[in-house]
Amino acid sequence: MKFGGTSVGEAEAMSRTADIIMGYDCQRAVVVSAMSGVTNSLLEMMSDNRKEVPEYLSWLRAKHLDAARENISAEHMSEYLDELEYRLVGLGRLIHLFRQDEGRIMFQDALSSWGERLSSLTLSYILRSRGLDSVAVTAEDIGIVANGPPGNGSADLLATEANLRRTLVPLLQAGCVPIITGYYGCDQRGRPLTFGRGGSDYSAAVVGYGVDADEVEIWTDVDGFMSADPRVVKNARTITEMDYGEAAELAYFGAKVLHPRTIEPAKRKGVAVMVKNTFNPQGKGTRIHGLNRRGSDMLRSVALKTGLSIVKVYSSELVYQPELEARIIGVICSNGVSIYAVSTSLSTLAVAVPSESVDEVCGRLQGFQDEVEAVKVKKDAALICAVGDGMLEICGVSAKIFTAVADVGANIELISEGASDIALNFMVGDTKAVDVIKRLHELYIGA
Ligand code: ADP
Ligand code: ASP
Ligand code: MG
Repeated sequence: MKFGGTSVGEAEAMSRTADIIMGYDCQRAVVVSAMSGVTNSLLEMMSDNRKEVPEYLSWLRAKHLDAARENISAEHMSEYLDELEYRLVGLGRLIHLFRQDEGRIMFQDALSSWGERLSSLTLSYILRSRGLDSVAVTAEDIGIVANGPPGNGSADLLATEANLRRTLVPLLQAGCVPIITGYYGCDQRGRPLTFGRGGSDYSAAVVGYGVDADEVEIWTDVDGFMSADPRVVKNARTITEMDYGEAAELAYFGAKVLHPRTIEPAKRKGVAVMVKNTFNPQGKGTRIHGLNRRGSDMLRSVALKTGLSIVKVYSSELVYQPELEARIIGVICSNGVSIYAVSTSLSTLAVAVPSESVDEVCGRLQGFQDEVEAVKVKKDAALICAVGDGMLEICGVSAKIFTAVADVGANIELISEGASDIALNFMVGDTKAVDVIKRLHELYIGA
């Protein structure tokens, strides 16, 4: 069971979360995010050296104490306060180390993971106050192993599974409910390595994989995986059942409700992922699993990823130089840059990359000065991912979708179709993207 930032965001939410956990009597492992706003505040501390550490720690203390005071019994309070203080002192030390230049990169992930250490502690004491045997454990304690670049780690599933069998399974068998820090694992040297923003969903799937869970539940602040982001489309509806592939594509292309990596560990073991609403636990939510059935929805869900740029590389008769194309792609992707869409013509190669990587990518492409004629960048682009049944097989689906795009006066900047059987991806300028999503939803999912 994974509870996101809003689900542990203040006293009332923590109490609801505790109720949901108490409502089960099977073995359950809980993964938590930081209280909402905390990870952002940690990142701000890192980017602004002028922010005072004592004031910041007081703010964090007050935020956790507000949630604790109403939910932790007098009997457990003093022990909780001691442990909270211990963790806050640890954080203070880490911020000082971080601010001494040489430690910066090394401590970045450790620092941004601190919110989870505080929220897991608080929730475990709330559960103890209700008489449940519960303990806060960190990713280090139980051995969630990660590798990859800072801020974008991946779990080593086999190593983690071996560790969890030794550390977590005995706890579960003894009837204890562990409250585990989401968002990060540890690299080979035991240092925290985060899974990227929103990574606690992925942590939950990794733990589910490691303990052979029957189900992974993602408890969040909306009624499940929906036909669009309900903040953008007011009448978005819950999709009660989804295939792993659909959820993974939509999550990768902007449906923030799930971290894009969540599906992979679950799919490998055939574990169903449920997405449920902490604030409406009776709701059906969404069940994501291996669905072999083909439905008849032309469009089931639309997602939107902003903050992208299109880099276009021009070289006459590029298609006749596959080796050059391969090198260009290799250079664009190096240093961990992801390509979100790609399209080629006789003499151009167009790729969509995150806007924050554009300068770096263009810098590297200067190495091709003698081989390419020009490199052009179109900034402020958004990618729209439309998922439905028979995207490739049914005649006229793209025509209908692109007509809706034209209806709102949006210009299509790049199309990526055919790569996926279930999704059609295309890019428009980001000022029009929300209008496109709304129009598609209105026409083909339901007003
Ligand atoms: P948590 O803190 O629980 O991890 P997030 O904020 O990361 O929650 O994700 C939940 C949010 O995802 C919702 O509040 C909603 O605005 C957004 N969202 C985007 N796309 C979708 C979608 N297709 N279905 C449901 N929610 C979505
Ligand atoms: N707290 C982390 C974040 O805000 C991880 C998560 O919430 O899933 O990104
Ligand atoms: Mg999230």
